[in-house]
Amino acid sequence: MPKHSSKPSLLLINQTLRVQDNPALTHAISGDAPLIALYVFDTNMRKMGGASKWWLHHSLVSLHKKLETLRIPLILKKGDSFSIIQKITDDYEINGVYWNREYDSHGIALGKELKQWADRKGLDCQSFNASLLHEPSLIKNKQDGTFKVFSPFWKTILKADEPLPNLPIPKPAHYYENPVESDDLNNWCLLPKKPDWAHSFFNYWQPGEDGAHLKLSKFLSNTLERYKQGRDFPDYQTTSLLSPHLRFGEISPRQIWHAVKKFSKLTGAHNADKYLSEIGWREFSHYLLFYNPNLHQENFNKKFNRLEWNDAEDSKKFIKSWQQGLTGYPLIDAGMRELWQTGYMHNRVRMVAASFLVKHLLIDWREGEKWFWDTLVDACPANNAASWQWVAGTGADAAPYFRIFNPVLQSQKFDPEGNYIRRFVPELNALPVKLIHAPWEAKQSELSHFKIELGKTYPYPIIDHKEARNKALAAFENVKNYKN
Ligand SMILES: Cc1cc2nc3c(=O)[nH]c(=O)nc-3n(C[C@H](O)[C@H](O)[C@H](O)COP(=O)(O)OP(=O)(O)OC[C@H]3O[C@@H](n4cnc5c(N)ncnc54)[C@H](O)[C@@H]3O)c2cc1C
Repeated sequence: MPKHSSKPSLLLINQTLRVQDNPALTHAISGDAPLIALYVFDTNMRKMGGASKWWLHHSLVSLHKKLETLRIPLILKKGDSFSIIQKITDDYEINGVYWNREYDSHGIALGKELKQWADRKGLDCQSFNASLLHEPSLIKNKQDGTFKVFSPFWKTILKADEPLPNLPIPKPAHYYENPVESDDLNNWCLLPKKPDWAHSFFNYWQPGEDGAHLKLSKFLSNTLERYKQGRDFPDYQTTSLLSPHLRFGEISPRQIWHAVKKFSKLTGAHNADKYLSEIGWREFSHYLLFYNPNLHQENFNKKFNRLEWNDAEDSKKFIKSWQQGLTGYPLIDAGMRELWQTGYMHNRVRMVAASFLVKHLLIDWREGEKWFWDTLVDACPANNAASWQWVAGTGADAAPYFRIFNPVLQSQKFDPEGNYIRRFVPELNALPVKLIHAPWEAKQSELSHFKIELGKTYPYPIIDHKEARNKALAAFENVKNYKN
């Protein structure tokens, strides 16, 4: 075991992969002990999806460099968090443990376990809120209950005290000089190899804190002004693309909040409120998760437990076509391929593609949630589960069951020139606007002219919209009158 110069404190990184506005780090550094940081790849948590693992690898590399500049050693370990923390505390004679809170069931349980253990051991320990604007347990409705609808929830947040100011990068006064024992990140094999399906992700993303701030400043100076008008159009690239950075805690919602407010005050830029209300949806999803720990598994609205999903043999074929972007509906196929190529899908298209799976194909929303969990770089325990339930109509403040997006009308409205489709479904590239949204409606001669043969170069729709809509309405009607 290494010898120690003086008893150090331990910072648990959890999902806060940054050094700015990191309250646990700031607190831990302010004491008179040197600091060691620990990241545990926890094998008891829900297994991380492939795209998230790619992100995590690069984000840890970036964090490691940041901590090196502060001369804080980073220990990487894989396994059960609690046992690892106990062992490290003994091995390094740790005198205090600090972390930023997580609001999923695993994070909440671990936090409680750590506090009880630290009390028993007489160890100093403290946890902080670093990932939300406000602590979920403090946001209550007028009856002192919990919110189930977004608008009053958000109004309450807007009336509450301003989120705490950002914390600067702290400067340590003491350094831990002894070597530490850490896993080699490469041995965790987080990156895909054969095949390397993530090879193009670097064209779109720069994981880590610097990448997050670059995205924020680009968004503020280039697109915030057009956000409200443009955010629904997948080809216009008007959204902030901050979701994976938020997911991995490379930037905090507080930092975004203050930066957006400051920028709009300085420049008179509009749309700050609209943008912050989307950060509000993130806050609401985490709030829902906090009070409903099984959000990714259980219908929020229990009456939908009676819904009869399609689990017949043909459902497997449907799921595969949907995953591969081969449904025959160009907007949905573009979205599903964007997801595969970039680890991301535009929000409007997420809604249409998810609605198609759940309503047109009557596939259980949990199947879609799992696919997104595996393929999204921003796959988030709160946002993914809450959004899937929103689309399915099973969630809190969800879309009404009878809202069934028409994939062709959505395509015409939100990708009016068909350029998003052209980008991700290149086999339809040559089609003119009037044909690109529903190629099966074109005459055979028109398709041949553009070298398209339905069923060969591009699929026929796997299901007829009208028929599917009626079937879904009937299935959902069936459960709507049940009481919970
Ligand atoms: C079926 C489905 C699954 C989704 N899964 C995820 C997921 O796993 N992770 C995830 O971060 N978002 C998810 N979303 C929400 C949303 O699509 C993404 O947050 C958004 O597309 C990210 O792009 P952006 O950062 O450019 O968003 P912007 O429009 O710039 O919004 C800024 C931030 O607000 C938050 N936000 C925006 N919209 C929502 C929303 N509807 N619900 C909750 N938070 C929101 C995100 O943190 C986002 O980064 C999902 C939506 C649907 C319909």
